[in-house]
Amino acid sequence: MSYLSTDKVEHHFTDVVIVGAGGGGLRCALQLAEADHRVAVLTKVLPTRSHTVAAQGGINASLGNVLSDHWHWHMYDTVKGSDYLGDQDAIEYMCRAAPHIVHELEHYGVPFSRVEDGRIYQRAFGGQSKEFGEGGQAKRTCAAADRTGHAILHTMYQQNLRAGTHFFEEYFALDLITDEDGCHGILAWDIAQGQYHLFRSKAVIMATGGAGRVYQTSTNAHICTGDGAALALDAGLPVEDMEFFQFHPTGIAGVGSLISEGVRGEGGYLVNGEGERFMERYAPTAKDLASRDVVSRAMARELKDGKGCGPKKDHLLLKLDHLGKDVIMQRLPGIHELALRFAAVDCVKDPIPVKPTVHYTMGGIPTNRFGEVVYPKGDDKEVLMPGFYAIGEAACVSVHGANRLGGNSLLEIIVFGRACGNRVMERLGSMRHHHSVDPDCWQPGVARVERWLAGSKGGDGVRIAELRDRLQADMEEHFGVYRDEVTMQEGVERLQAIGADMSHAFIDDGARMFNTELVDALELENLFAVAQTTAASALARKESRGAHAREDYPDRDDDHWLRHSLATLKNGKVELDYKPVKLKPMNVESFEPKARVY
Ligand SMILES: Cc1cc2nc3c(=O)[nH]c(=O)nc-3n(C[C@H](O)[C@H](O)[C@H](O)COP(=O)(O)OP(=O)(O)OC[C@H]3O[C@@H](n4cnc5c(N)ncnc54)[C@H](O)[C@@H]3O)c2cc1C
Repeated sequence: MSYLSTDKVEHHFTDVVIVGAGGGGLRCALQLAEADHRVAVLTKVLPTRSHTVAAQGGINASLGNVLSDHWHWHMYDTVKGSDYLGDQDAIEYMCRAAPHIVHELEHYGVPFSRVEDGRIYQRAFGGQSKEFGEGGQAKRTCAAADRTGHAILHTMYQQNLRAGTHFFEEYFALDLITDEDGCHGILAWDIAQGQYHLFRSKAVIMATGGAGRVYQTSTNAHICTGDGAALALDAGLPVEDMEFFQFHPTGIAGVGSLISEGVRGEGGYLVNGEGERFMERYAPTAKDLASRDVVSRAMARELKDGKGCGPKKDHLLLKLDHLGKDVIMQRLPGIHELALRFAAVDCVKDPIPVKPTVHYTMGGIPTNRFGEVVYPKGDDKEVLMPGFYAIGEAACVSVHGANRLGGNSLLEIIVFGRACGNRVMERLGSMRHHHSVDPDCWQPGVARVERWLAGSKGGDGVRIAELRDRLQADMEEHFGVYRDEVTMQEGVERLQAIGADMSHAFIDDGARMFNTELVDALELENLFAVAQTTAASALARKESRGAHAREDYPDRDDDHWLRHSLATLKNGKVELDYKPVKLKPMNVESFEPKARVY
């Protein structure tokens, strides 16, 4: 079958197309659908399979239901947690909005756990203080047992069904439709039917989630392949701060499944092979509840020093049996099940083997706090791409800077999903008609798929599964918790070799309908684009900050590196640029960078 004529591409006209049905995409869709706009949500999996469903521990808001709290302390903790790389205007906006947003979620129907008097239950999470400075632990993370993301995602989905959002399930976004006037739609592939769809819209919103699958062991779902970042790169736009991938301290060793920080929030702690509670040495005040970069670095250090557990000394132990069966079964039932299934450990009796595991993509498509995509042009540091927006883990607002605090991502997706919806409405109000597009605009997206289907005969090429394994292993070995020049340079060279092999990679399956191998191939292209930007940005940043820890540059260097990285792909090569951090909040004074102590 030839796909050279436009009648093979089904055309749709909507006000807005949102790529991604996670918490971010759905909160944004709800804002727009409730205002009677025609909203199409595209998702490559069923909406309730989006990675938001896996979020366990909770969502941060300074409700003060358990211990006194204030949004300004939340802001301080987030700025400090970000290792001062977060943009303080966006952080202020998010932390102020948080209590309102969480109450709104409650009213939409999210079944939060409760304290005795009926208010929302809140637990301690990493990096939370009770006042500025090192003033003790706050309890800021609102939880629905240890299934908070599940509760939020299902509620958002149901609210969208009520509001009349149009869902296009198992549609894979292939290509952004852009020209010098902005972004006007998206070309997508219907995975089940094997057909092309051109969505023309007045606004396109990327809510495609993270890219944790560039690494071998990750807490992320297999679908977290950085598709949004790759689409933006392909459209010539930069991605921001891609060197910052968060390692969560407690992935189940060897498997990667997440054991929520909520375990340590409830009183669990880490021990090394000598039975020592080692976090007391690294973070005397916050101990196991220091921010994630600090705990992951400490764990990596213990493992390097030969203080791991087990015959290979390759993991540490998370002890929680002292919490008692009642607390575990009531507050952490999902963790109990995960530990049983994936580590064969009954955590009511025994500790869980854990290891730092890739968890979160701090970087992404650069946006302002309204979700509008911004990029540098000439001397101008921030111009907008009209009609193009990004939210959630796919975006870099940047509220997390170099290190995200647990509980701040569910917050981010809801806060900025809503804010972006409001901003898009302003555009829709002033735009009566769809922008015209080049009649051949669908061709690059179609070519992307047809190349794989046509080449499915094999020959002397390389299988995509082999390339993906090589890519993930390379990232794991060369861009891990600790990095240095020589190791990263080697990693870059390996990536180049993978890139050369990509041109003659092939898939076995040439079918059009429900070709999951084809989806794997498209995802591999996206992973490769992301990996290249991560490698180049990491190699260039000669300091240690947040999740980017260099053995050869162990200190933070604010004089040279208090700035965001921007990486673009030009003819397959990464080009780097930088932009300043927004240190000025909206209404309060800045938190000036200082040494971080937990
Ligand atoms: C195991 C785990 C536990 C977590 N726990 C917490 C927690 O307790 N608290 C917290 O704050 N954060 C937590 N996080 C982080 C948080 O859950 C995520 O950052 C957040 O849910 C991301 O939401 P999102 O809407 O941006 O994207 P996602 O929920 O990842 O959704 C992405 C959507 O994009 C769609 N998509 C992607 N690519 C394409 C494409 N090419 N075409 C079409 N559709 C596409 C997918 O189908 C999906 O619908 C956790 C993360 C993990 C992995």
